[in-house]
Amino acid sequence: MGKDIYETLIKGYTEKQWGRQCAELPAFIIKRLPVRFTFDNNYFKDRYQGVPVGGYNKLSAALLKDIETKTSCDFFADRPYWENLSDKIVYTGEIDRYYDYKFGKLEYRSLRWETEILDCANYQGSALVNYTEAAVPYTRIIEYKHFEFGAQPQTVISREYPAEWREGAEPFYPINDAKNTALYNKYAELARKEKRVIFGGRLAEYKYYDMDRVIERALENVKCQITK
Ligand SMILES: Cc1cc2nc3c(=O)[nH]c(=O)nc-3n(C[C@H](O)[C@H](O)[C@H](O)COP(=O)(O)OP(=O)(O)OC[C@H]3O[C@@H](n4cnc5c(N)ncnc54)[C@H](O)[C@@H]3O)c2cc1C
Repeated sequence: MGKDIYETLIKGYTEKQWGRQCAELPAFIIKRLPVRFTFDNNYFKDRYQGVPVGGYNKLSAALLKDIETKTSCDFFADRPYWENLSDKIVYTGEIDRYYDYKFGKLEYRSLRWETEILDCANYQGSALVNYTEAAVPYTRIIEYKHFEFGAQPQTVISREYPAEWREGAEPFYPINDAKNTALYNKYAELARKEKRVIFGGRLAEYKYYDMDRVIERALENVKCQITK
C-alpha cells in the first residue's frame, strides 16, 4: 500500500481504535480494508448498499409482529426461567458468560459516544467522517440525518471514541488475537456439544460480523436446524 498511505490513513486510526500498536495486531485486521485503484470511495464493494428505510428497529418490529417479545431482561438474572421456557434457545450473548467464565474471560474493545444537537441544518454533509490521525481522540463523527436525507433545521452528531472494555460495559469488538482465539476455541468446543442451544452472532461466536453477514448466518442457522 505504501508508507505514505499507511501512515496517513491506517496507522493512527488503527492504533487508537484497538489501543495497541499495529505491530501487535493480527494481520487479518488490515486485510479487512479494501484497496482499489479507482475513484470509488465506498468502504464496501457490494453492488447495493444502504440501511432499511426507518432503520433496523422497523425491520425487527415487523419480523416480530404477533410474536410475544420481552426486552430489557438479562438471561442470567433468571436463567432457569428462560431455560425452561422452550425446547430450543438461540443465545446471542457473550459465550464465556454462558459458561460462567470457566476457562477465563474473553477480551473486547469498547466505544463511547458524545452526542450533541447542533443549531444548523448540516454539519459535515455526510453520515460518517473518519478521523485517521492519532492526535484526534475520536475515530469518527456520525451525523444521523444523512442516513435518511433528513431536512430538519437542526442536526444530531456523535463523536465516537474507542475505549478499553471493562466488565459490565457493552462489549463491542472481539479482540481476535492468538490468546483470545485459543480461549474462544475452548468455549466453542463446549457450544458444539449443546443440543438445545444455538449460539449465534458477534458475541456468541466471538467474531466481528457486518449486518448482511450476521443476517446471512442467522438464515443459514435456521436452514441447518430445519434439516437436522
Ligand atoms: C460501533 C459499531 C458500528 C457498526 N457499524 C456497522 C455498519 O456500518 N455496517 C454493518 O453492516 N454493520 C455494522 N456493525 C455490525 C453490526 O452492528 C452487527 O453485525 C450486528 O449488530 C450483529 O448482530 P448480533 O445479533 O450478532 O449482535 P447484537 O446486535 O449485539 O445482538 C445481540 C443481542 O443479544 C442481547 N443479549 C446479550 N447478552 C444478553 C443477556 N445476558 N440477556 C439478554 N439479552 C442479551 C443483546 O442485548 C443484543 O440485543 C457495527 C457494529 C458496531 C459495534
